[in-house]
Amino acid sequence: MHACCQHLLSRRALLRWTTLAPAVSLGLMPRAHAATTEALLLSCMDFRLMDDIERYMHARGLREKYDHIVLAGASLGAVTDRFPAWNKTFWDHLGLAIQLHQIERVIVIDHRDCGAYRMIVGEAHASSRASETAAHGVQLRRLREAIGERHRHLAVETLLMSLDGSIEVVG
Ligand SMILES: [Zn+2]
Repeated sequence: MHACCQHLLSRRALLRWTTLAPAVSLGLMPRAHAATTEALLLSCMDFRLMDDIERYMHARGLREKYDHIVLAGASLGAVTDRFPAWNKTFWDHLGLAIQLHQIERVIVIDHRDCGAYRMIVGEAHASSRASETAAHGVQLRRLREAIGERHRHLAVETLLMSLDGSIEVVG
C-alpha cells in the first residue's frame, strides 16, 4: 500500500470515529462494553397489571434498569412441580441476567386474584384475603430460598400486588 493510501485510510477511520462518537455518547449506538443493570423482575403474565408493574418500577427509580421475565403465577411459575419447563425457563433467564448484566437483585411480584394460583394451588386459596396472602407467602418463600441456594450474592424481594396496583411485602 502506498504511504498516501495509508494516510487516506487512517484519515477515513478518524472521520468515521468523529462522526460516530456523538451518536454513541447520546445512546443512539450500541456501547462497546456489556451493559450492567441492577435487577431482574419476575412477574405474572396477567394483562391487568402490566401498567401498574411498570409504574411501580419507575416510581422506585428503576426505569430501564431491570430485566423482566414473565411467567404465569410469577413465583409459583418458577417453583411449581406442575410445569418443570417454566422452572427451567426461570433459572436459565436468571443465569443469563447475572452473566450478561451482573444483576444484584431479584424482585418478585405476585398478584392477588391470580389465575395461575387458582389453577395450580386451587380455588380455595383465595377464599379469604388472609388465606390468599398465606398461599403467596408459601411460594414466594420457596423461591427466595431456592435463589439463595443457587446464587447467595443476590438480594431477593418478595412482593404481592393487589388489583389496584398497591404493593405489600409478603414471604
Ligand atoms: Zn397471575
